[in-house]
Amino acid sequence: MKVLVINSGSSSLKYQLIDMETESVIAKGNCERIGIDGSKLTHKAKGMEVVVEQDMPNHNVAVGLVLKALTDKKSGVIDSMQDIDAVGHRVVASGEAFKKPTLVTDEAMVLMEEIKDLAPLHNPAAIVGVNACRDAMPNTPMVLVFDTGFHFTMPKHAYMYAIDYKHYDQYKIRRYGAHGTSHKFVSQEAAKYLGKKPEELKIVTCHLGNGSSITAVDGGKCVDTSMGFTPLAGVPMGTRSGDIDYAAAEYLAKKEGMDVSEMLTYLNKKCGMAGISGVSSDFRDLTAAADQGNDRAQLALDMFAYSCKKYVGAYAAAMNGVDCIVFTAGVGENTQCVRSAICENMQYLGLEIDEEKNAEKNNGQIRDITGKNSKVKVLIIPTNEELVIARETVELL
Ligand code: ADP
Repeated sequence: MKVLVINSGSSSLKYQLIDMETESVIAKGNCERIGIDGSKLTHKAKGMEVVVEQDMPNHNVAVGLVLKALTDKKSGVIDSMQDIDAVGHRVVASGEAFKKPTLVTDEAMVLMEEIKDLAPLHNPAAIVGVNACRDAMPNTPMVLVFDTGFHFTMPKHAYMYAIDYKHYDQYKIRRYGAHGTSHKFVSQEAAKYLGKKPEELKIVTCHLGNGSSITAVDGGKCVDTSMGFTPLAGVPMGTRSGDIDYAAAEYLAKKEGMDVSEMLTYLNKKCGMAGISGVSSDFRDLTAAADQGNDRAQLALDMFAYSCKKYVGAYAAAMNGVDCIVFTAGVGENTQCVRSAICENMQYLGLEIDEEKNAEKNNGQIRDITGKNSKVKVLIIPTNEELVIARETVELL
């Protein structure tokens, strides 16, 4: 069975065609700058990379180009679109409208329209992507897979905000979390690696990238996660503030003459590592600057690690212990000093890492960096959100 996974962003569309018999990637690529000048498609298959520079005014055109690349005589990997057995679509926000992967139907798409303002940059793009695929492949079954899906096992005391209950009832304002497919994948991979069943383990998964979230996985189920109603909450990130006292935001808004939406743009785009360091949101730039003695880059890194450390401690408390900590995503997989700083002074948990193993280069494989005397396993596991989406698509169908 061949599953096409589509991840539509506001101006991008990433895809992977996965052979589910072997769970291997047959082709993958990315359409960039959709609706903007200079759009291009980068397609990788059969060991080659093809770049198509062509105007893509919308996602319909992008989907058309993707299908053309997949069926192209030279770079193609399938004879026709009929060879695609199913399509899995990544969707960022579900609200309480979708608690599980859901088959794409007219009714499901009406619901998708109703919840699109939960993620105003991402969900509308996903709708456009789904519709474009439906137009191109009207008879192919499609599934919506939500980033929030893995987090629906959180107990109510963990996902509720302490606001007037009627506002939860009326608007479903609560913690939903994000990166669910990644947390699910790496927690399952950790159990496999450790030769245990997920039910036997308490795991803290740290998805640390440009956006970062930390999740407590008890017995294979999410019991808490650091992101909230939106991905703005939790640890500070590339450009997002993470948790902040709302009264401070109001104080600043008044001083700078910002309205609510300007304040949210500020908190999402101008804060975090970029705001603190004044250097960059990118951890490669931050570590390089800190190594050259830039105090604010070092401060940003220290704040990030400290915040992650606090979540690890909080989730160990929530689960009455922790057997394994997993690092994943761009920063989690590649940034040695961040892992060191998060794991230092964790003797109270019986946690210690092996700094030599931690210093080894990312080889795209699972790496065990557990220290000799550590009671807690520490693993680096490359994430694979596309594979989870493809698996969930197959499972539902
Ligand atoms: P997102 O998917 O949230 O956009 P990623 O998971 O791709 O983010 O992570 C991006 C971050 O990972 C950047 O801050 C980048 O600096 C950091 N990073 C550090 N080392 C590497 C590396 N070798 N390759 C890719 N990203 C890296």
